[in-house]
Amino acid sequence: MGSHAPSEQDAKTILIIDDMPANLGVLTTHLEREGYIAVVAQGGEEGVERAEFVRPDLVLLDVMMPGMDGFETCRRLKAREATRDIPVVFMTALTDTSDKLAGFAAGAVDYVTKPLNGAEVLARIETHLALYGLRQQLAAQNEQLRHEIAAREETQAALLRSNTELEQLAYVASHDMQEPLRMVASYLQLVAQRYRGQLDSDADEFIGYAVDGAKRMQALINDLLAYSRVGTKARPFEPTDCARVVDTALSNLRIAITDSGATVTLGSLPTVMGDSMQLLQLFQNLIGNAMKFKRDEPVRIHIGAEPVGEFWHFSVSDNGIGIAAEYFERIFVLFQRLHGRGEYPGTGIGLAICKKIVERHGGTISVESQPDVGSTFHFTIPR
Ligand code: ADP
Repeated sequence: MGSHAPSEQDAKTILIIDDMPANLGVLTTHLEREGYIAVVAQGGEEGVERAEFVRPDLVLLDVMMPGMDGFETCRRLKAREATRDIPVVFMTALTDTSDKLAGFAAGAVDYVTKPLNGAEVLARIETHLALYGLRQQLAAQNEQLRHEIAAREETQAALLRSNTELEQLAYVASHDMQEPLRMVASYLQLVAQRYRGQLDSDADEFIGYAVDGAKRMQALINDLLAYSRVGTKARPFEPTDCARVVDTALSNLRIAITDSGATVTLGSLPTVMGDSMQLLQLFQNLIGNAMKFKRDEPVRIHIGAEPVGEFWHFSVSDNGIGIAAEYFERIFVLFQRLHGRGEYPGTGIGLAICKKIVERHGGTISVESQPDVGSTFHFTIPR
């Protein structure tokens, strides 16, 4: 560190507490020559008071003092908020090992041995001042980090609130839209039936488009409702047997399975902590898609699960049309579809619902696929 000549402003103050300061004449001179301000207190009581008043950068403390000894003085310094962090260096006789240990126990950072060696004392003082500076810097950084974390937590809470509000808004809006839309759709259908052939053929065609549009909007709103229900109508998790859930999904899909002539095979499926209604919806969406996006050959679907680390890895595989790699992420986004409605019916909400359900359960979902070969949807649920 070498010798330095600090300016008056950043001159460091060293408080020396010793009942016989006359013995330290050389040291104070030495310190002052190096640009330190040396303050002396003759005894523990005075030292503690001085420390509180002067706020020194470091305390040099004699062990052997009449009245309050060095250890007690140190403990008091450490007990007070104002002086707690100031490094204390003991001055002790060369042989007193127990003194040294007692000094550390009282909260000292170091000791120097008497008779004092000026250069050594200075070197130690410099080291501890530097360490003290670093500690303070760290403490300040810590404080700033704490602030940043608190701010982030607040933002997160606000985000969560607005997310919940948005979800509720989506729910209420789609719920309230159902009724007027039902009116539009049913009266349009009534007009279509009652006045068919009475208006010109254009009118029949236009009414047909309008009925179609209203039906599509109904489907979208129903799906949107289902999507927002994942958050708003969630039920607490309970042990859920996935084999039973898949069984229910398959019986709900019985007609589609019969129509597509699909063969479904099952691996052994575990019991997980989850919301059984949502897990049913998850499996039903994935199995439903596996049948819907089929090629011109018998549909084969396999559903399996295996433990990997702290998760169950589930998979739903098919031998359908497959998906090109560039769409692997996009298909999980709300309303994203890769085909026209004419080719495959749907609103593009099923996988968005699946993703939301899996994430609510603490897992992730992804797809692995090869066009014209098949797709495997993977998702995880914590064990
Ligand atoms: P929807 O089925 O209503 O179109 P989804 O969100 O369930 O909506 O799926 C989004 C898109 O992902 C589908 O339109 C389809 O292009 C693709 N997809 C989903 N599942 C499969 C699958 N098993 N095989 C091939 N493509 C699929």
